[in-house]
Amino acid sequence: MIKKGIGRQIVLHYFIVIFLALMLVEVVFLFAIRAYYYDTIYNMVSNHIGATARSALISTSAGDYTETEYLNQILGLLKLPEAELQILDGKGEVLISSSGFESDKPVQTSDIPQALASGGTAKWIGRQATTGEPVMAVTTTLQQSGGQVYLARFVTSIEKVNQRLTEITLVSLAIIAVILFIVLIVSIGLANSIVRPINNIIAVSAQMAKGRFDVRVEGDYRYELGEMGSTLNYMAEEIVRSNQIKDDFISSISHELRTPLTSIKGWSETLDSGGYDPDETRIGMGIISKETERLIGLVEELLDFSKLQQNEMKLTMGRVELKELLKEIVLNVWAKAELKKVQLRLEAEGESFAVYGDANRLKQVFLNIVDNAIKFSHESSVIVLHLVQEDGWVRTSVQDHGIGIDEQNLKRVKDRFFQVNTQGGGTGLGLAITQQLVELHEGELDMTSELGVGTTVSVKLPFFEEGPAVRESQTEAGGEQ
Ligand code: ADP
Repeated sequence: MIKKGIGRQIVLHYFIVIFLALMLVEVVFLFAIRAYYYDTIYNMVSNHIGATARSALISTSAGDYTETEYLNQILGLLKLPEAELQILDGKGEVLISSSGFESDKPVQTSDIPQALASGGTAKWIGRQATTGEPVMAVTTTLQQSGGQVYLARFVTSIEKVNQRLTEITLVSLAIIAVILFIVLIVSIGLANSIVRPINNIIAVSAQMAKGRFDVRVEGDYRYELGEMGSTLNYMAEEIVRSNQIKDDFISSISHELRTPLTSIKGWSETLDSGGYDPDETRIGMGIISKETERLIGLVEELLDFSKLQQNEMKLTMGRVELKELLKEIVLNVWAKAELKKVQLRLEAEGESFAVYGDANRLKQVFLNIVDNAIKFSHESSVIVLHLVQEDGWVRTSVQDHGIGIDEQNLKRVKDRFFQVNTQGGGTGLGLAITQQLVELHEGELDMTSELGVGTTVSVKLPFFEEGPAVRESQTEAGGEQ
């Protein structure tokens, strides 16, 4: 027995549809075959009548004989070996019969009035009143010139035909039963081929719901079920990946927080223990202040990220001259670049590079890009900051000659918390924040890189149009929070 569910529904629907279709065909077939058999008998008799009755009437004339002789004559001319022939008068009284049995009662079947009314041939199928045998009666009118109307009525048994029809019905019903059995087997197979993968997918997803993301939908399912299975597997892989990223993030952020905190703690304890050497105090205070700044920077990055995630970032939009902004950034990072002997070169093709944006946020964008460029540059290499106008846009590209990123990792560097190498510090949030800020400015951020050769990050921002064309920012202009 098939369990309740989609499988049973499939089998049931399939079975009902085929059953109804077969029944319809069966009924039409049986009607047709019955009509064919009966028509064959009827045609045989009526053709016989057509061929002989008229000539019989012409060749015999009531005037030449007595009525009994005349009727005997006609009976002899018309009779058929397999059928009883009765000659009746207009009222249905049997005048003479080839079987020799003449009933006293007039024949009252429908063929009599029909034949009389049409003046032609009519048939009746039913059971013989006396014997109960199934018969077909074919009656035709024999019009006499003298006005006397006779009816020739052939009564033939259709018992054998009916038996044959019953046999045919039984055989066809048996064929239907076999077909339905095959349909049942096929539909159960079909239902199983759908239900089994679904059950498997349900079992796997139930395990995943309990937190087991190592299980996968196995089996090479086809069509939508295959897609469903691979989507579920993909979902599990993504969950595992994002869990991994989250774990990496927690470990890197803890590390990032711990280093400055250890340093702050160490120096504050040293200063607290006395001694008060003014130089040492200055160095200690300097380190405490630097590390605190680093912590603030880290926390701010996290806050920015969470604001962007919740769509709460507010931009103060206006005209921003990118060339000036980049000069400012070069000054900001100069000391850091100096440490690695990295040279920063600013190239600008044209005069004005004004864009429509939030100056502070754009500074954050380019600071992060340039900071990464320095961080991952080889010692004594050159970083080129290139500005160019492209119709309606200003493109800024930052090209470094550093470690580069391989193709696989390049696809993921803009993902939040992703770092190619977690040992290098940072949170892996910089590029995710940068990307979202650029998008808030309706700009585009692209990265190309070659492992061991270097990376180019380019940012396309909408050119600032003078006059009333100043647009409303998507995130509504307003103060930062
Ligand atoms: P963070 O710098 O805080 O780790 P980012 O989101 O800014 O986070 O960068 C993500 C990762 O992308 C970095 O950890 C680094 O592996 C890689 N990356 C970014 N910029 C460069 C670059 N210019 N050269 C090589 N790798 C880079």
